[in-house]
Amino acid sequence: MQVLVFAPHPDDDVIGCGGSIAKHVAAGRAVDVVYLTSGNAGSITIDKDTLGGMRENEAAQAARHLGVRDLTFLRQDDGYLADTPALATTLIELIRKHRPDIAYVPHAQDRHPDHQTTHTLAVKAIGQASGPHFQGARGEPWAVPTVLAYEVWTPIQRVQYLEDVTDVVGRVRGALEFHQSQLELLDYQAMKDGLAQYRGSVLGPNRRAEAFEIVTAPSSSFTQ
Ligand SMILES: [Zn+2]
Repeated sequence: MQVLVFAPHPDDDVIGCGGSIAKHVAAGRAVDVVYLTSGNAGSITIDKDTLGGMRENEAAQAARHLGVRDLTFLRQDDGYLADTPALATTLIELIRKHRPDIAYVPHAQDRHPDHQTTHTLAVKAIGQASGPHFQGARGEPWAVPTVLAYEVWTPIQRVQYLEDVTDVVGRVRGALEFHQSQLELLDYQAMKDGLAQYRGSVLGPNRRAEAFEIVTAPSSSFTQ
């Protein structure tokens, strides 16, 4: 079973669905991550050229800690991610290459423009990858059965699925710790854990969870 995560910036994968990634890996599933930008605008002190490389390195270490198999950096312009035919074709080809059973994307109401664009681009590419059209994109058609939308800093209004990540909280914390360039700006650990506590509270005392909207699902197994 294959899992593919679309992340607008390095760290969105860990914050949005890092616990779910760790659980997939523990269950023997191959997880790959595609980063649309390398987050090179994410600092007020480090210049863009330096920061892009730094953040790719941070993402690689964090992903390795979670057990991710393969990373793809598309190096689009951080803060100005745009829906272009070339990028759309690249995403279709990546979906056809990785053939995921589950894809993760940011949720549609995320207020960060790059996250919104990633949602739109990824969901559109998932639809287009499934059919025989778009002959400009290489690869055999592949329909992704399950698509889940994760939250970063804009909470999901209509939660449709909760993943209990209590058992992997330490692993996610360890992964997030590699994103030092971002932790210098804000206490992401407290923010991630606060959100996981809030989402987990409905599952029972001291539970941690990640919340999702269901974009597509093959059966009722993902309904809450
Ligand atoms: Zn982001």
